Amino acid sequence: MFFFFTCGTHTFTSRLKGYENVTVQCQNCGNFSGHVYKRWEWFTFCFIPVVPFSLKPWQEIGCNVCNFYQDIKYRPDVQAQQGGGPQQIPMQGYGGGPPPQGPGGPPQTHPQYK
Ligand SMILES: [Zn+2]
Repeated sequence: MFFFFTCGTHTFTSRLKGYENVTVQCQNCGNFSGHVYKRWEWFTFCFIPVVPFSLKPWQEIGCNVCNFYQDIKYRPDVQAQQGGGPQQIPMQGYGGGPPPQGPGGPPQTHPQYK
């Protein structure tokens, strides 16, 4: 029987909400290749995350060119861009013209023949 306990760590990484469309300059290599990530490292037991290393996820700027990570608290310029990127334009005045009607058009009252 091959059975053993394995301890380790697992880091959850995802785009930070509100910064999905934000691209920032990396202060390490200077490229505009930084994105804001939420990283949360957990202590795992048998590959199951049981205890987080920190109470809250880290919010970091990650660069995919030089693999440099920097805490977002050092980047007030990035925090000012929260919710940036393409703005959603509300759909108004769409199409124009009359609304589509079902077959037969609007209900009509027929004169009664007596
Ligand atoms: Zn970089």
